[in-house]
Amino acid sequence: MLFVKARYASLSIKNKLTIFISISIFILIFISLTFLIIAGKGHNESEIKNTLIQTVENNAHKILLKNNQIFLDKEVIFLNNIYTAIYNEKGNFIYGETPKNFPLYQDFKTNTVKKINQFYVYDKKITIKNTSIFIRGIVSYARTKKTFSSLFYITIILLPILAILTTILAKIFINNTFHPIEHILHVAQQIQNSKDLTLRINLQKNNNDEIHALAHTFDSMFESLEKSFIKEKQFTSDVSHELKTPTSVIIAQCELALENTKDQETKEALQTILWNAKKMSQITSQLLLLSKAEHFNEVLEKEEINFSELCEIIAEQQQEIALEKNITLQFNIEPNITIFGDSALITSAILNLFSNAIKYNKKNGKIFFSLTQNKTEIFGRISDTGIGISEHDLPKIWERFYQVDQSRARNHQQYHGTGLGLPLVKWIIQAHKGNITAQSSINKGSIFSFTLPKKNN
Ligand code: ADP
Repeated sequence: MLFVKARYASLSIKNKLTIFISISIFILIFISLTFLIIAGKGHNESEIKNTLIQTVENNAHKILLKNNQIFLDKEVIFLNNIYTAIYNEKGNFIYGETPKNFPLYQDFKTNTVKKINQFYVYDKKITIKNTSIFIRGIVSYARTKKTFSSLFYITIILLPILAILTTILAKIFINNTFHPIEHILHVAQQIQNSKDLTLRINLQKNNNDEIHALAHTFDSMFESLEKSFIKEKQFTSDVSHELKTPTSVIIAQCELALENTKDQETKEALQTILWNAKKMSQITSQLLLLSKAEHFNEVLEKEEINFSELCEIIAEQQQEIALEKNITLQFNIEPNITIFGDSALITSAILNLFSNAIKYNKKNGKIFFSLTQNKTEIFGRISDTGIGISEHDLPKIWERFYQVDQSRARNHQQYHGTGLGLPLVKWIIQAHKGNITAQSSINKGSIFSFTLPKKNN
């Protein structure tokens, strides 16, 4: 029972409804047929009994007595499947006909229908010219039984056929009803997976049932969401654009002023301004890129790249920067791995991973980078022995502006960042139809692993 309950609970609403409708219709048909059979049988029986009484009563009027001899028209002796026999007062058969297997039965209980073996019997006593006689009508009810049993067998055959038929019809009806719901589910899943808010359910407009109304409401909701996302993107993009020129001017002017000033205090102030302006410039260019993230293919400028060579150049450059901080960087790059991608973006993603591995490493730490491939995919892996990321923070590092320790990032120049690096890396890898994941353990280090498909155009 529990198993059936669990199985039923795991069924889809579609299947539950099919079972419910089929069983309901089946029960309804079963009850109707049983009722029909019982009513039919009763009706048949009472009809036969009535005809029997009527025939005997009619025949009673037709009996004649001539010269002590009983006469009854031969045609009415067997009428309506009813045999008529006449007995004298002592119960001896004197005229008429009885069915072949009718027993010798001399108990004459008049004016009531009796059941003897498979016969209905009706006796009537009349007196003609001072002579009393019994008129007996006999009819076989085997016929009624036969009609009943054939009806019963027809029902037994008909019921499973009807059950199968109702299940098929219920399934077709439910499938048709649920088709739009499945379509809504499919589109919703597509939107969730592809993050593409331009998708619409688009059910027929001329249907006004609840499901279609729901789909139209969803469509208008997606429409307003898409509009507000576009607005937000446009705003970020416009602001970043507007900030780009003034920050470039600040950086240029600061550098010029730094060259021309000898006063130590002014120099320090200018250096702080320059450092912050550079950070601002980094944020604006990263934001500008991310604001375009929704339109991957419009932004990407793809070409055939020797990925192995590109990674080697970056790794060698970063090796020197790492060495300045007493960090050893080693790499193992399988030669001649090529990809079809946006060279500038891919470079920026790999650089970001390296610079994080250096930035968040410890004194005398280690970094290891590897690049391999199989028939279909390219595998990149960069591990460090740095400060690590807690389990709580790990899923959040891909969110825009998320920095594990805000105060640490603000107060230590060593850790300065924008919180936009990893979201950008993720977007770039995904824009090339790849994937990136991170594993980390606090104070032990982190591993960033990415895959890229070999054919991503
Ligand atoms: P940021 O510009 O702050 O480095 P990122 O998006 O690149 O921004 O990284 C987000 C946060 O993830 C960082 O603030 C840092 O705390 C953490 N993080 C990234 N890479 C590493 C790493 N290799 N080791 C430890 N923490 C890391």
